[in-house]
Amino acid sequence: MSIASNLNSIKAKIPEHVTLVAVSKTKPVSDLMQAYEAGQRIFGENKIQEMAEKYEQMPKDIEWHMIGHVQTNKVKFMAPFVHLIHGVDSLKLLQEINKQALKNNRIIDCLLQIYIAEEETKFGLDEKELTELLSCSEFKEMKNIRILGLMGMATFTENQEQIKKEFLHLKSIFDSLQNKDAQCRDTQQCISTTVHFSTISMGMSGDYQLAIECGSTMVRIGSSIFGGR
Ligand SMILES: *Cc1c(COP(=O)(O)O)cnc(C)c1O
Repeated sequence: MSIASNLNSIKAKIPEHVTLVAVSKTKPVSDLMQAYEAGQRIFGENKIQEMAEKYEQMPKDIEWHMIGHVQTNKVKFMAPFVHLIHGVDSLKLLQEINKQALKNNRIIDCLLQIYIAEEETKFGLDEKELTELLSCSEFKEMKNIRILGLMGMATFTENQEQIKKEFLHLKSIFDSLQNKDAQCRDTQQCISTTVHFSTISMGMSGDYQLAIECGSTMVRIGSSIFGGR
């Protein structure tokens, strides 16, 4: 199967309101160009340097999403062009993104990564940390970031019930924040002007259909498009 036909068959399974991020990490520019020529304009990478190199070489109407864990000292390399940062999981990182966005005269969109898996290896905030982050004064003062929603990764397991439970957990956190956000917007007392909850990034090659059933609005798919890594 070609990259173009993989892409088309996935697109056919995804409803209109769900955004497809083609995860192209480790793959050569020639592979990404095949997806580009088939119409794909949103690519996800997990290493800043690799993403910056591909950005340089590829057409400029691409949206680049950073889906990996971000080190604070590398934010500056993507700040001029990154479209959405999925894996934000600390105030310190947000402050650096805000600083670099300001330097570039931009507002950078971010998702907060929430810890939903049962593994110790996955990054992310728990619910308490999320609440603390959203309510602290440092967060409310940042003007050059915008929080569009949440991102999560399920446990790496065959157990569909387990995965479903984790996705639904993320969805419920999202819903409660979205409600809170809408309520305070009505009373002009928003969580923060920097919060615009619209996006839940969950679902990869193995579980994106389940993720969509559970309310995902953005799926990150790599190997089903580009082949194994
Ligand atoms: C690699 C990666 C993906 C894509 O994984 P596939 O199983 O190849 O679809 C999605 N999200 C994150 C955060 C990743 O690192």
